[in-house]
Amino acid sequence: MRILLYRADGNMAPWADDFARYLPGATCVAWTEGEKPAPCDYAVVWAPPEAMLRELAEVKAIFLMGAGADAILRHGDAIPRHIPIVRLGDAGMGVQMAEYVAHAVLRYYRRFDQYEDQAAVGEWRPLPPHDKAGFAVGVMGVGALGQRILECLKPFGFPLHAWSRSAKSLDGVTCFAGAEGLDTFLQRTRVVVCVLPLTEDTSNILNRANLAKLPPGSYVINVARGAHLSEPDLLTFVKSGHIAGATLDVFRHEPLPLQHPFWQEPRITITPHIAAMTLRGESVQQMAEKIALLEQGLPCADIVNRELGY
Ligand code: NDP
Repeated sequence: MRILLYRADGNMAPWADDFARYLPGATCVAWTEGEKPAPCDYAVVWAPPEAMLRELAEVKAIFLMGAGADAILRHGDAIPRHIPIVRLGDAGMGVQMAEYVAHAVLRYYRRFDQYEDQAAVGEWRPLPPHDKAGFAVGVMGVGALGQRILECLKPFGFPLHAWSRSAKSLDGVTCFAGAEGLDTFLQRTRVVVCVLPLTEDTSNILNRANLAKLPPGSYVINVARGAHLSEPDLLTFVKSGHIAGATLDVFRHEPLPLQHPFWQEPRITITPHIAAMTLRGESVQQMAEKIALLEQGLPCADIVNRELGY
């Protein structure tokens, strides 16, 4: 079996080493831009150029080295419909997302953001605690990662809300779904967490109209994709105080340009797209298990639905 590897950063050798460990017998071939790819059974890629995808008509499946399919689906027309695109399903990212979001929620709830400001000027002043019943956390997107975030938040006792495309029933979580559920979800949410896939339907969803539906003094945590959020609208709401703080891991342009106004806004916390990093070993192990299923003619999990865009 031959596996074609491609990453935009060129760092393919460690992936080949892990495939040798989890799929002994497979030969990995690295693709470099400008070359015609060697004939292969599977492709394992991250952010591949369209020119590469056009050459993959013979592979049995294309595996993504990440959870989001938005980057590859931009070139979806270049990939024949019969070739399944398989994304990562958690693979060690769920716990990282849970750590990141729990930290951000607790930082706001316990007012550490304000205590950091006070400490910077040597001010010793206890602040009144937030009311927990009024500090509902609402997670947009309750797939592999969103569900893990909700599970992690349960022991803290915040009211928990979830919003997804299809209706769900989750223990201890008030669930909303579809366009008809969005307004109520936002109106009842104090900390909104976006962990949606980026699709035509979800692009720019954190826009002026929807941010305005959050109660005054709300918080925004975006760990999904930069294009979910209207950056100018968020800035307006942060400056007005309607949004009390935002923790952002993803941006329209990455790295976030130095002249971007977010860097100057103390109520916006910036991290460099690290909320949940691909763990190579877990990922290759998962891919090897899925390849074993496909080789037996069995279905595997996490095949991207091209109509839905995730
Ligand atoms: P899943 O596909 O498992 O879950 C997606 C969730 O979003 C589902 O609950 C789905 O609803 C919901 N959804 C999709 N479209 C809509 C819509 N139009 N309206 C309402 N809900 C919708 O994805 P994952 O949890 O694995 O990953 C989510 C995203 O997180 C990835 O696509 C990626 O962009 C981002 N990510 C970011 C990382 C980072 O480091 N910042 C790292 C990893 C991922 P339903 O349940 O009804 O299908």
